[in-house]
Amino acid sequence: MTQDYYELLGVARDASTDDLRRAYRRLAKAHHPDLNRDDPQADARFKAINEAYEVLRDPQKRALYDRFGAAGVQARGAAPDFRSDFGDLGDILEEFFGFGGRGRARTGPAAERGADLRTRIKLTFDESVFGARRQIELVRRETCDVCAGSGAKPGTQPVRCTVCKGTGDVRKAQQSVFGSFVNVQTCQQCRGRGEVIADPCEACRGQGRSQRSRTLEVDIPAGVEDGTQIRLSGEGEHGLWGGPPGDLYVALSVEPHAVFERRGNDLVVELRLNPADAALGAAVTVPTLDHDRTVTVNIPPGTQTGDTFEVDGLGVPFLRRAGRGKLLVTTFVAIPDKLTREQRQLLEQLRATLPGSGVVERSNTGFWDRLRERFR
Ligand SMILES: [Zn+2]
Ligand SMILES: [Zn+2]
Repeated sequence: MTQDYYELLGVARDASTDDLRRAYRRLAKAHHPDLNRDDPQADARFKAINEAYEVLRDPQKRALYDRFGAAGVQARGAAPDFRSDFGDLGDILEEFFGFGGRGRARTGPAAERGADLRTRIKLTFDESVFGARRQIELVRRETCDVCAGSGAKPGTQPVRCTVCKGTGDVRKAQQSVFGSFVNVQTCQQCRGRGEVIADPCEACRGQGRSQRSRTLEVDIPAGVEDGTQIRLSGEGEHGLWGGPPGDLYVALSVEPHAVFERRGNDLVVELRLNPADAALGAAVTVPTLDHDRTVTVNIPPGTQTGDTFEVDGLGVPFLRRAGRGKLLVTTFVAIPDKLTREQRQLLEQLRATLPGSGVVERSNTGFWDRLRERFR
């Protein structure tokens, strides 16, 4: 006769998966046969708890159980198999005994890859556009050159660990109600290396690596931007016991420019026009980021705020192909807010000849589009 699974786990019939899991873990710990050796019922009770949980944790099996009871679950061949699924059981065994379903596969002494290192370089705007060569100071662990990374005093050799026989792992067969498990643990004697050092190298105290200060030259390509990360392969910490080195990641941050703003590979520069130049047209000299080079932009008569003029080939170089983006010269018409008496008189005369101010229909003017473009 089978007890009701919900009662067995002490949960309500609408218990959530989390509720079930919590209840199961609590009960499985409390009723584990290895902790209740004097109780002849412990084994059976523990099995029943597992059976209940295996069914209720699975939405399909749970639905069958709710409709047909335990018979419904078993009739369909869905009887729980404790050996095949170590999900939660594995966790619990791990908590108890330090082993479980999550065995590690490992063969031979442990070579360890060196850690990755991270650093940051601040670039001026110009450096990010045209590239730069910079030096990085860093401290990293490198293979000890006195013992060539073995950790053993020169003239001596590390010896094979007698505890794990050079594998780095200790395996123990262990019996439990679920059958026998192989308990794999890192060898304590050699800490997984498979070898022990009888006579440590004095330079690295047997560590095989020592701290070194290094200065690296880094070529920063033209066209990088704020947030670009450069990976210097193999420039991280050296590996341990013959493992490969890690990488060095260099994050770039770029200072803003006083005049230019980057948009993709284009450079945007804002050009202030006085109303006369905007209305009459003008040739205006615009600086570029290229040293000592300026361009002359011909502003046609009737130029409005937000009109943009493009100059090819004076933007930011593309990172992965030849060529450069554009220089975009965006205008805005600056209305003077302080007038001399003469200017006032001239504007009064001008006003008398201009059509009056008034509301415009949105469809009849590019003004709103330009305004939107400008503030996008
Ligand atoms: Zn050494
Ligand atoms: Zn060992």
